[in-house]
Amino acid sequence: MPRIAKIVTPEIRYKSIHNAPEKHPSSPAFSPQTNPWQQALQTLDLVTDHMKLEPWIHERLARPKRTLTVSIPVKMDDDSIKTFEGYRVHHNLDRGPAKGGIRYHPDVSMDEVKALAFWMTMKCAVMNLPYGGAKGGIICDPRTLSDKEMERLTRRFTAELGIFIGPERDIPAPDVNTNPQIMAWMMDTYSMNVGHTAPGVVTGKPIDIGGSEGRREATGYGVVVVTQEACRILGIDLKTACVAVQGFGNVGANAARIFHKLGARVVGVSDKDGGVYDPQGIDIEDLRLFKKNKPSIAGYPKGRPIGNTDLLALDCDILVPCALEGQLTQDNAPQVKARLIVEGANGPTTPQADKIFKQNGIMVIPDILANAGGVTASYFEWVQDIQSFFWRAEDVNERLTQLMRRAFTEVCGISKRDHIDMRLAAYVLATERVAQALRIRGIYP
Ligand code: GLU
Repeated sequence: MPRIAKIVTPEIRYKSIHNAPEKHPSSPAFSPQTNPWQQALQTLDLVTDHMKLEPWIHERLARPKRTLTVSIPVKMDDDSIKTFEGYRVHHNLDRGPAKGGIRYHPDVSMDEVKALAFWMTMKCAVMNLPYGGAKGGIICDPRTLSDKEMERLTRRFTAELGIFIGPERDIPAPDVNTNPQIMAWMMDTYSMNVGHTAPGVVTGKPIDIGGSEGRREATGYGVVVVTQEACRILGIDLKTACVAVQGFGNVGANAARIFHKLGARVVGVSDKDGGVYDPQGIDIEDLRLFKKNKPSIAGYPKGRPIGNTDLLALDCDILVPCALEGQLTQDNAPQVKARLIVEGANGPTTPQADKIFKQNGIMVIPDILANAGGVTASYFEWVQDIQSFFWRAEDVNERLTQLMRRAFTEVCGISKRDHIDMRLAAYVLATERVAQALRIRGIYP
C-alpha cells in the first residue's frame, strides 16, 4: 500500500469530503440535495465504493487541485465602477492541461464551479482526451450588460486569470451565456499580455482567428450521436420518436435542430422563460428564426405554451435536458414518461432522481458522456491551433462521431460487465484513467 493510504481511515475519508458548502451571498441557497458540489461528491463516493478505489486517490479527487477567486472592477457605461466576482477552478491536472468553459450567470458560485470542474475532469477522461478538468464563471446577469460592458468585464477577468491560463496550462471555452465573441476577447487580452498571438489559449473562438469548423454545433451534434447509439440498444426508431428538449441555448438549439433534421418529432422545447408544446412536432428552423435577437422562445405563437419544468413530464420517448444543473429532482422524476434521458446539460439530474429513473427502467446517458462533443471539438481546435493546420468540417464531424461512438461503446461494455447503469459505468471508465495517471506519476516530492 502507498504510505499515505495508511494514515487515511475510511471514517476520515468520508467525513473529509462533506465540508460545509461554500456560498456566495447572492448564490442560490443550495440544499444538500441540490448543491452541485455535494452531488459530485456523492457520485465520487459511489464510484469509489464500486471500484474499491484507493483512499488516497479518492481524497485527491474529492478536492480541487487549486481554486482562484478574483474581483473584477468594471467601468460601466454610466461611468460608475462596479465590482464583479469571478472564479476559476482546476480540479485535476494529472492527465494534461486544465480544460473547461467559462459561465456568466447570476447563480454562479464557487461550489457550482468546483462541481463543473470535477465533471470536466471526468468528461475529458471518458473521452480519453489529454486534459484535466477546470471551470470558471462570473456572477453577473448578462442580460443587464451592454456589449461594451461585457467586453470590459471579459478582458479584465482574463487579465485576472493571467496566472492560471495558457495554451499549455489551462484552456477556457464557452459555457452558459458565453460565446465565440467572448472567447475572441479572451484570446486577444491574453495575447496582448504575453506579447504574441496565442490562439491555443481558448477554444470555441470564431473561425477567422483560429477557431474550428464544427465547434459551435459540436455539443448538440454529440448529444445526437449518443442518442442514436442508445436508441439502437433500446429499439427506438429515431425517425418516429418524440423528443422533448429543455433549454434552447447553444446545446439545446443545435440538438433540437439536428433531431428535427433526422426526422424525429421534437414535440416540446423550453427555456427559462417558457416553452412550446406541439404533439405534431415543432418546426425547429422556424423556432430558431423566431428566437433570433430575442432572449427567449417564450411567446412562440405556434403550438401550446408550456413551462420549463412542465416540459420534463411531457409524453415523449426521449428527454434531453440541455439547461442548468439540478433540474430533474426526486419531486419531478416520478412524472417523467420518457424511456431515454440524454443529458445535454451538466449535472441536470440529482442522485435521488437518478435512483427513481433506475427503478422505473429509464436509461440515462450521463452528462460526462452525452455532452462531451463540445470539449472533444475543443480538443480538435486546440490541436489545429498548435499545428497551425486546419481541418475541413467533414473531418471534424467524422472524428467527433468516431470518438463519441468509441466512448459510448466503452461505457456500455463496463455497464454490462459490472451490471451497473451508464452513469456509474462512465465514472468507472473515467476514474480508472485518472487514477492510473495518479498512480504512475506518484506524489511529488
Ligand atoms: N463548456 C463545455 C462543457 O461543459 C465545453 C468545455 C470545453 O470545450 O472546454 O463541456
